[in-house]
Amino acid sequence: MTADVIVVGAGPAGSAAAYALATAGADVLMLDRCRFPRDKSCGDGVAPHAVDMLREMGVSFDHFAGPARKTYGGLISGPDGRSFRADPPRGPDGARLESWIVPRAELDARVARAAVRAGAILREGVTVTGLLRERGRVSGVEIQDGAGTSRVRARVVIGADGAHSVIAKSLGLRENGPRHIGYALRGYFDGVDDLRDDMEIHYFDRELLPGYGWVFPTGERSANVGVGVYFGELRRSGRKLRDILNDFISSAPAVAARFRQARPTSRAIGWPLPVSSARRQTVFDGVMLAGDAASLVDPLTGEGIYTALVSGRSAARAAMAGIRADDVSAAALRGHEHEWRETVGGYLGAGRVLKNLAKSAWLFNVVVRRAGENPQHASRAIGYGIGTIDRAVALRGVMRRVFLQPSFFR
Ligand SMILES: Cc1cc2nc3c(=O)[nH]c(=O)nc-3n(C[C@H](O)[C@H](O)[C@H](O)COP(=O)(O)OP(=O)(O)OC[C@H]3O[C@@H](n4cnc5c(N)ncnc54)[C@H](O)[C@@H]3O)c2cc1C
Repeated sequence: MTADVIVVGAGPAGSAAAYALATAGADVLMLDRCRFPRDKSCGDGVAPHAVDMLREMGVSFDHFAGPARKTYGGLISGPDGRSFRADPPRGPDGARLESWIVPRAELDARVARAAVRAGAILREGVTVTGLLRERGRVSGVEIQDGAGTSRVRARVVIGADGAHSVIAKSLGLRENGPRHIGYALRGYFDGVDDLRDDMEIHYFDRELLPGYGWVFPTGERSANVGVGVYFGELRRSGRKLRDILNDFISSAPAVAARFRQARPTSRAIGWPLPVSSARRQTVFDGVMLAGDAASLVDPLTGEGIYTALVSGRSAARAAMAGIRADDVSAAALRGHEHEWRETVGGYLGAGRVLKNLAKSAWLFNVVVRRAGENPQHASRAIGYGIGTIDRAVALRGVMRRVFLQPSFFR
């Protein structure tokens, strides 16, 4: 088989790339080792900007077969147990911003279907084992499927194959060091009390900061629940993620009482979070990386669906430009990196600084206390977290207060 572009992986990054390529008229082949619907360990939180992009691709947020829920606000608790809740500031049209919690088994199948509707070919149950190189140039990928081992040729390969990317490894890239990788464990629970239309984030353990636990409602009493911790803090703590998750639901102040009747409905599953502070190269001769394969997870929140969609789309646009110009060298494809940096580079960069500030339990407690006192602060804090307002403004605000209003931190 041959194609203009091979997209490896049909998660949000791969499907966004395949959708954009097919819409632009390219001959695109998307390969995934799984068959959809397939699970992916995730908080399942789809932030407003990601909801907008998915809707533009024709993905509908109605009539889910399983549990899924629309949410509007956020609830955050700090290490001293205090908390605040708020909606982020409203959009330009005055409407409340909508987030969704949709199990990835369902969401990713819908996104892949959108790419196929646009004209992409999806082959499932096909494992890509490495890049194919001929005469010193990347010319496609090697695959393994039920029929054995074979080769598929293409002008451009987009590696959207997630945190353990085979394409990144084939390019000689190493896994991220301990400061640039987190690990998270997710379970589904029934029988949870007092769930509202909020994504809840609990910075419950000062030893694990900026790691946190989350409770994202999927129904009236059901929720996606998990913990995420940087590898450095996890190693120092000497604890296992499974024990941390148990501690979270049995002793975190804003959580424990609500989980007395709760029961897990599935075994908790863990997965790495390659964060953007690793500054991974994303453009090579004939190859680009997108999403987790490009290490583009937000260092502050662990959110990666939005950056996966953005980088999948930018890789597709650069591939189209390269094919049209008959030049798919790294220099010709660099529009990919320009575009994703332009769209999410500032948000990710500020996320890195905020993540380092979030290591201070003292600062965290002050911010949560101040947000609890002032609804405007609370709303802005939620907006900074989910990135619906410019985080650089948050950083400038903190610095201004340090110099001009130090009493704010008492
Ligand atoms: C526990 C946890 C909670 C999270 N919570 C959130 C959240 O609430 N909101 C959010 O925005 N982000 C969250 N994230 C991050 C988010 O899940 C990822 O950033 C996102 O899935 C990245 O999308 P992707 O398309 O790059 O990769 P993936 O979604 O991992 O998709 C990669 C695809 O590639 C396929 N593949 C892999 N290897 C091969 C191969 N060799 N050959 C063929 N196919 C292959 C896989 O089967 C998969 O379908 C969370 C992550 C974790 C671990």
